[in-house]
Amino acid sequence: MRLLRKHLCAIALSVCAVSTAGAAPLVEPTLHLKPQAGGSGRVALTLDACGGQTDTRILSALVDNRIPATIFVTGIWLKRNAAAVEIMRAHPDLFELENHGGRHIPAVDTPRKIYGIRSAGSPEAVLTEVESGAAALAGTGEPAPKWFRGATAEYSPSAIATIRKLGFKVAGFSINGDGGSLLGARETARRIAAAKDGDVIIAHINQPTHAAGEGVVQGLLALKAKGLTFVRLDDADGVGDDGTTD
Ligand SMILES: [Zn+2]
Repeated sequence: MRLLRKHLCAIALSVCAVSTAGAAPLVEPTLHLKPQAGGSGRVALTLDACGGQTDTRILSALVDNRIPATIFVTGIWLKRNAAAVEIMRAHPDLFELENHGGRHIPAVDTPRKIYGIRSAGSPEAVLTEVESGAAALAGTGEPAPKWFRGATAEYSPSAIATIRKLGFKVAGFSINGDGGSLLGARETARRIAAAKDGDVIIAHINQPTHAAGEGVVQGLLALKAKGLTFVRLDDADGVGDDGTTD
């Protein structure tokens, strides 16, 4: 869907220019782990919990196979998924919870829509989204988050600067594992299984009815079978572009 959108933009530049009303182009930052000498490679699994429910296929597979993950949770999701939060908290060696915003509003400080979701629209609203997400996590007794990932993972460059000033690193990714959880199981598994040393995978853990979740599990088990090590963002040096980590 993203490719299609970019393609459409390329063939209709003038239309895109009009629709963004002169606002700075959005960025979708990448994030990689620093390469490690020796070993069979490290990858970071990041899973977004935007809203909705919990995909227990993925959660159980992570626990059963002892695969660590960084979970980006919103305030909305935290409120509705107490049982899943309990399971994550019972395995602090596996799960690190980070900030996906208070209300799942894109961290874009000009008014526009991204994948149909209305942006925060102002620097103040970006600030509120980031701080309310951190407050929601603090309310569950979790350690203070160090990473932020905005809804849709797209940002205005000035919003990234705002988030950095609040003390958070911004979590990009290098492999889009499930295409916003809209891909089929087979394609999702193929993308995740293709991860190499240093990759940061993004997928979703909040869509239990989507086929993609099954693919997430298959892809992760394939990586584990290949001998790759999973690390959480806090346990590795992540290097992002667009000023997201430096
Ligand atoms: Zn999200």
